[in-house]
Amino acid sequence: MSYQHCDVTGTTIPLPLGKVLCVGRNYMDHIQELNNAVPEQPLLFLKPSTAVVPFAGGIIIPEQQGECHNELEIAVLIQQQLTQAKPEQVTEAIWGYGLGLDLTLRDVQSQLKQLGQPWERAKAFDGSCPLSAFVSKDNIDNPQNLDFALTINNQLRQSGNSGLMINPIIELIAHMSQHFSLLPGDVVLTGTPKGVGPLHQGDQLSASLNSFIKVQANVI
Ligand code: ZN
Repeated sequence: MSYQHCDVTGTTIPLPLGKVLCVGRNYMDHIQELNNAVPEQPLLFLKPSTAVVPFAGGIIIPEQQGECHNELEIAVLIQQQLTQAKPEQVTEAIWGYGLGLDLTLRDVQSQLKQLGQPWERAKAFDGSCPLSAFVSKDNIDNPQNLDFALTINNQLRQSGNSGLMINPIIELIAHMSQHFSLLPGDVVLTGTPKGVGPLHQGDQLSASLNSFIKVQANVI
């Protein structure tokens, strides 16, 4: 299904679809569940625009590549270019907030880690980034106090609060912009809390961001 950024009323946001910038290991409880080390600087990776699909459209997971894990994350939509930006510029450049799934082929990723190879095969495949609608930042008093949660088949699988991020949103994006320019329409995924695990065909997912966003999808 084709994807366009849209707001919570379903209206298209006039920004192109760009790349997705991601951070790994940004919540301590998730670092602990995978027995990973705490990174000294943010662990960054990218997904191409071809990874993005509508969250509500049904989630297609790759077959015969081992486990595909859910990672529910707060997504930030960028509306202005950021190159080596200061925090004040980042605040200006944000359009709003939504939810993204950083779908991850965990077995493939483990093999790549062992080989010391990049993660794209595990993280950047077509459809690896379902995105919800976005709520304007004008409606968000404090982006570092957002609750988000994922239920699978009516069981709570992930719940987080953005206040628990190791790298807060504005600092994280300012840091990213020292290394990569962010362009209008790019999206930043801000890391996952604990509760990652394998998805199965037929699973029913329901995700929420405070009371602003509620999105449902089945795994196809
Ligand atoms: Zn992630």
